[in-house]
Amino acid sequence: MSRLDGFLRADLSIINHANHYRVRKIVEIIDPVSPTHVRVSDRECVNFCSNDYLGLSGHIEVRHAMSAAVERHGVGSGAAHLVTGHSIEHHALEEELAAFVGRERALCYSTGYMANLGIGSGLLKRGDAVFEDRLNHASLLDAGMHQDVNFSRYRHNDMESLQRMLQASVCDRKWVLSDAVFSMDGDVAPLRELTLLCQQHSAWLAIDDAHGFGVLGDRGQGSVIAAGLSTDEVPIYMATLGKATGVFGAFIAGSSALIETLIQKSRTYVFTTATPPALAAAARAALRVMQRESWRREVLQAHIKRFKKSAQQLGLALTDSSTAIQPLIVDDEVKALEVSATLLDQGFVVAAIRPPTVPRGTSRLRITLSAAHSESDIDRLLEALSQVSLSPTPA
Ligand SMILES: *Cc1c(COP(=O)(O)O)cnc(C)c1O
Repeated sequence: MSRLDGFLRADLSIINHANHYRVRKIVEIIDPVSPTHVRVSDRECVNFCSNDYLGLSGHIEVRHAMSAAVERHGVGSGAAHLVTGHSIEHHALEEELAAFVGRERALCYSTGYMANLGIGSGLLKRGDAVFEDRLNHASLLDAGMHQDVNFSRYRHNDMESLQRMLQASVCDRKWVLSDAVFSMDGDVAPLRELTLLCQQHSAWLAIDDAHGFGVLGDRGQGSVIAAGLSTDEVPIYMATLGKATGVFGAFIAGSSALIETLIQKSRTYVFTTATPPALAAAARAALRVMQRESWRREVLQAHIKRFKKSAQQLGLALTDSSTAIQPLIVDDEVKALEVSATLLDQGFVVAAIRPPTVPRGTSRLRITLSAAHSESDIDRLLEALSQVSLSPTPA
């Protein structure tokens, strides 16, 4: 073994002993029209951990838009946006996104991860104070941590904790960054309280709506519009296109000055090749379908109600999440892995989420629901869950 591999193997064995070792499943979609039905390890399964909440990833209109755009534009964009990569499809998507979420402008990034890092490099300056919810997505936390800023994390959704920190801060420029729907817990941030605190303390609020966009709001415009909040109250709105939108990518929306600043300074925007124009074309089609087919949001909401009601009857310890993310906390990672493996044997893909993705002692089965599930998929999952023991394995 080389010296490098020796070091790497030693680290890997530490990860393994902590039961934090991650392996990938190889997944095959059986029929894109029902994207929740997949083949994993030669077994047909129902997928309960995808973020394709509306089932748009296999929608015929979206698929056709993407194929047609490939025929028209080719595959690669060939350059960064600021060179020649910014295609008419990207530009049209930005205009449509901005109109959809009621803001002057929007800017597309390759991924949500990059959009959040782009908030860091594009907006934060040395000496700024940045306040983040402890349970924010890793990419939003990274945005705050990689800069030369005064970074603090407040207790999850705890406005008193945030208020104390804002009050104690002597920084001139203050930013508050929060997920709208927390990705591993499914609970929602108190958006209105956040905006009030930010106003009181002259802080600027950035909201990551990766799990609210497409799902909340009468046409899927997301958490901020659903809460009736304005651009002044939430000046920086970020959402992704790879979850409920079913495609890939992300965007930040806000004032023209915000977008111009990001174009000039956001390193994850400037120094990377633009995504294929066909992806933008697919996202445009998905946006149209998302707005038109509001039954998808209705079916999803009905599924959430059905799941919670039956889970309660079965005595499963759910959290107070009322979104499509329904975690079952099983504390220890070994148990989470065991249950996940048992469910897979029975034809259900449910991810075991362990530290460092979630805090120690809060390993969980992260169940996500989709409009593409049938009622019977949900009933059968609950039946399987009622058969397994969720209490910790004795050491
Ligand atoms: C998934 C997610 C991201 C990252 O988006 P990608 O497009 O997958 O890179 C950012 N924030 C939150 C809250 C997420 O759930």
